[in-house]
Amino acid sequence: MADWKEQMQNLVNSLEKLEQHINVTPEEKEAIEKSETVWGTTPYFASLMDKDDPNCPIRKQVIPSQKENENNYGIENYLIYKENRSNEENRPDTIARQYHDRVAFTVMKTCANYCRHCFRKEVVVDQSLKLNFDLEEGLQWIREHQEVRDVLITGGDPLLLSDEKLDFLISKLREIPHVEMIRIGSRVPIVLPQRITEGLLKVLGGYHRVPIWLNTQCNHANEITEETAKAVYKLMTSGINVGNQAVLLKGINDDVQSFRELHQKLLSVRIRPYYLFYCEPAPGIDHFRTPVEKGAELIRDAIRGHTTGLAQPMYVMATNIGKIPLMPDYYIKEKSDKEYTVVNYKGQETTIPNIPE
Ligand SMILES: *Cc1c(COP(=O)(O)O)cnc(C)c1O
Ligand code: SF4
Repeated sequence: MADWKEQMQNLVNSLEKLEQHINVTPEEKEAIEKSETVWGTTPYFASLMDKDDPNCPIRKQVIPSQKENENNYGIENYLIYKENRSNEENRPDTIARQYHDRVAFTVMKTCANYCRHCFRKEVVVDQSLKLNFDLEEGLQWIREHQEVRDVLITGGDPLLLSDEKLDFLISKLREIPHVEMIRIGSRVPIVLPQRITEGLLKVLGGYHRVPIWLNTQCNHANEITEETAKAVYKLMTSGINVGNQAVLLKGINDDVQSFRELHQKLLSVRIRPYYLFYCEPAPGIDHFRTPVEKGAELIRDAIRGHTTGLAQPMYVMATNIGKIPLMPDYYIKEKSDKEYTVVNYKGQETTIPNIPE
């Protein structure tokens, strides 16, 4: 199935289809039968699952779990709160704002993989929050807000729009004089690399005043294949920068080995790690969440000093007041106007003179 539309038409979203890829466990079967949420993935991504291991990191991101019905730590009506949708500024549903100079532009709720840990699950997976995806209204709002220089197109998965719709969206954004850059958040390079077609590259690629930066989401090394590598190469050779935003997920990438392997493998296919997100407190995903400290510990124990510096993402917590950096804080042992005593990944110390104000 080399054609992306064919992949989407054959989404693996029923027990029968899933059974063609893996040996479904009784627990998985029960969760699927009881689930009232949207679930499913592409045949391509399903083919990367481990047939016999229910702890397979891809299975866990794709197959519903009964644990989704538990909610001890999540925030109800999470997106309304997180995206400041109930505050004074009157904005279209498509525009989420936390910063002065940039906004997130949510263009659709369809995905090629319905991630069980999705923080936008109320829109995408549970579909309990209905948004009005009026692109023209969103574009008009951006035109009227001259302070917005960076537009992050997100979803759902915006790269599932047709080439024609994307062409419309990108060219309209590029016509706005104050828009300096466009970002796209899309899991397509990971879950549907077939989507990176000549037609799409024609729409997104080529030299332009307004560059396009793409951030994908890859959470485990097993999600990366030669298909991924080729899709990323095509994007980059067309002028589109590709980064990764991983989510810290319990039992999937929260151990030193998986975490290091993920970030090394991303670089091997030319994807630059950008963010590591603390898994957000959306309702029903407690089972994916770790203590906050975990991410900083992993960067300390798996990445910094242990491997290529480019492999290191910035660990952040996405909140209603923006993203908060949570990097390891053990590097500075003592500091004064005169000097800094710092510690490396092996625990060795050294002292460097400071320049006082
Ligand atoms: C994440 C996010 C951004 C982009 O943040 P960067 O730190 O610039 O990558 C912008 N707006 C909203 C609403 C976001 O959630
Ligand atoms: S692809 Fe993105 S929006 Fe879609 S379910 Fe996954 S995390 Fe959510």
